[in-house]
Amino acid sequence: MPPLLAIVGRPNVGKSTLFNRLIGKRLAIIAKEAGTTRDRIYQDFDLNGLEATLVDTGGLEYGKQENIESDIQSQAKIAIKEADLIIFVIDSMQELTVDDFQAADILRRAKKPVLLAANKCDREVDYEHFNIYELGFGEPIKVSAIHKLGIDELKNEAMASLEKAGFKESEKKSSLTEKHNTINLCFLGRPNVGKSSLVNKLLGEDKVIVSDKGGTTRDATDTKVEVDEKTYNLIDTAGIRRRGKIGKGVEYFSVLRGFSAIERSDIVALIIDGEEGVNKQDAHIASYILEADKGLMLVVNKWDLKEKGDEEQRKFLRSLQQKLPFLPWAPVIFVSAKTGRNATQIFKLAQEIFKERQRQIDNEEIQTYIEKITLKHLPTGTNNKRPKIMDIKQTNINPPTFKVKASNAGYIHFSYKRYLENKIREKYGFLGTPIKLIF
Ligand code: GDP
Ligand code: GDP
Repeated sequence: MPPLLAIVGRPNVGKSTLFNRLIGKRLAIIAKEAGTTRDRIYQDFDLNGLEATLVDTGGLEYGKQENIESDIQSQAKIAIKEADLIIFVIDSMQELTVDDFQAADILRRAKKPVLLAANKCDREVDYEHFNIYELGFGEPIKVSAIHKLGIDELKNEAMASLEKAGFKESEKKSSLTEKHNTINLCFLGRPNVGKSSLVNKLLGEDKVIVSDKGGTTRDATDTKVEVDEKTYNLIDTAGIRRRGKIGKGVEYFSVLRGFSAIERSDIVALIIDGEEGVNKQDAHIASYILEADKGLMLVVNKWDLKEKGDEEQRKFLRSLQQKLPFLPWAPVIFVSAKTGRNATQIFKLAQEIFKERQRQIDNEEIQTYIEKITLKHLPTGTNNKRPKIMDIKQTNINPPTFKVKASNAGYIHFSYKRYLENKIREKYGFLGTPIKLIF
């Protein structure tokens, strides 16, 4: 039986958000207000190579003020009964409340391992609970479920705690994502950049349309197409609205549908309007794709409207580097849906990225390489703690994921992680795909 991890805490501290962050998907719909009823959701996930199950206890009914106490109790009781490890979430942006302390009381008496997670630590200064130790769980792990901060550390602590309880990482190769042959290729971008035009161009007469199950959702259409004996599922989406505008109702759900389109894709083609140039909205969408760990190519469309010549392209590339500096590994392609210029190169590029995402590096080889790299440039630490890298191995594909074993791993500086990633890319490439390093 895989270990069960339960997320517990009073309403609105960010349990669902954290749940989604840990499993790496957007399953639970995040409620904007406390008191929204949700079902309890179980989800299997990969905890640093260990197969585990996560349960979001946010599904229990809150709502009526007089029931809060008993609700927290029943929630905690279920967690206590079933869980092997409890993640107790508090909101670092607010003072601790009676409910926090009550939940803490119950959890303390349970004698199950508990990790205290202070969520919403979006910035260093957000965390300032003077009375946090009164909860009885010591120093909290600072996380921001939204901004993806401290998540690796939380996972590491969870792993360490479960290992202490006798759970072991599953060594079998099958824990790697199963390989599949159809490439799910999603076309994303703000409205009017030419997504539909491009998809239509790619579905031109020389292509065999295998199946068409359009209308899955109102604004994302799946069409299967075969090109050069390779099958693609083209996912056409409506533009994702700007982050700041995400509100209730239709707009909010059209955004979620955008997410589900990202979720079921292997590679996203982010379409950019070559005439208008890159803007903030493009950067927002790119960051969503990055968060989802999907493959990515940047497709600059409407290039027929620009002057021909390399200088124009170089200028555009420079502006891409400036406005999307977090994507140095994403390939760029200049196309025109109108004339069809370069459009089919999108398939070739998708093949290439797909291959890179499925790549498995020999563990001994990368181990030797990283030993050399870290000897040349020792990890820098913080607070006089000097981390030491002991071991690296690939634990997954699609996206390529590496587990790095290190002493004092929590003290490895962000810039050093970046350095390791760059070095791995220098040798192995991984064009068009994020790679994950789990410390
Ligand atoms: P739950 O009731 O505990 O499941 O909480 P939710 O996951 O529904 O989140 C409640 C609210 O807190 C939502 O508006 C989230 O967007 C917000 N939230 C969750 N995590 C963070 C975070 O890391 N930082 C900030 N600033 N807000 C967050
Ligand atoms: P979507 O909202 O992203 O699906 O964009 P559409 O495919 O509906 O295209 C928006 C507008 O841009 C339409 O008027 C298209 O004719 C135009 N358009 C799309 N691709 C190109 C292109 O490559 N060149 C030019 N000149 N216009 C284009």
